[in-house]
Amino acid sequence: MKNKILILITILLIGCSSSDTINPYTDNGDNNGSGNNGGSGDNSNTDLPVGFTKFLDTYTDVYISGNYVVVETTGVPNHQSPYWGAGHPNYASPHSGMSVNPNIITEQNFKFYIPLNPTASNVVSSTPLGPIGVSISGVPFFNQYAGPNNQPLDNEIASFDAYYGHPQQTGQYHYHWEPVYLTMADNSILVGYSIDGFPIYGPTNQTDGNYPTDLDDINGHTHATDEYPDGTYHYHATSTVPYLIGGYKGVVGSASGGGYYTN
Ligand SMILES: [Zn+2]
Ligand SMILES: [Zn+2]
Repeated sequence: MKNKILILITILLIGCSSSDTINPYTDNGDNNGSGNNGGSGDNSNTDLPVGFTKFLDTYTDVYISGNYVVVETTGVPNHQSPYWGAGHPNYASPHSGMSVNPNIITEQNFKFYIPLNPTASNVVSSTPLGPIGVSISGVPFFNQYAGPNNQPLDNEIASFDAYYGHPQQTGQYHYHWEPVYLTMADNSILVGYSIDGFPIYGPTNQTDGNYPTDLDDINGHTHATDEYPDGTYHYHATSTVPYLIGGYKGVVGSASGGGYYTN
């Protein structure tokens, strides 16, 4: 009997320690390479290209479907923000000088269809407003504009939280800039994918730790990376326009496969 009570207490204690609160430190461990998702737990990741094993399986469900890698995510950040709303366990007070917008982070029902074998196009296509890619934590990437007719982001930057994200009118949280929460420990990591199938890296090159000096107009160039030893076209985060993905180098799928869907 005593043993049974002890076991029960232990279970209760374990239950209590894993509350709904997001623990920023667990996720960081996942990002810096040690927690390759392919190895443990989620067997569905076994056949994924290595870049896609970098998605955090606490926040995303990643699998192959036909010629696409599907990333399912609720799109909410794996870190604190004022945009969770006061009273939420992950609420943080606005940082000094921040101009908080009226929107609140809301769970979405995203399915991103990312080409398994991306092809570079001769013609760069412009990105639409709304999600154009997805971070390894499941938060969508938006382009360098604040609204229609290529309105610059300048006036919105003050509304970014401490990790450079904010929600739009329907509560979709997103990054227009480097997702600094993910790059804190290593700013050369793969931070996500464009929906044209090409990966996006932090601001520095994995090869030499330097900031790239040969990026094209849409923030891309080609060389070997840890995830693509044979080389691939890829984008880098920059602190100047276009910040992440300035246009699609690759081909985005059509409505019958490709692009993204949400509720
Ligand atoms: Zn925005
Ligand atoms: Zn590079």
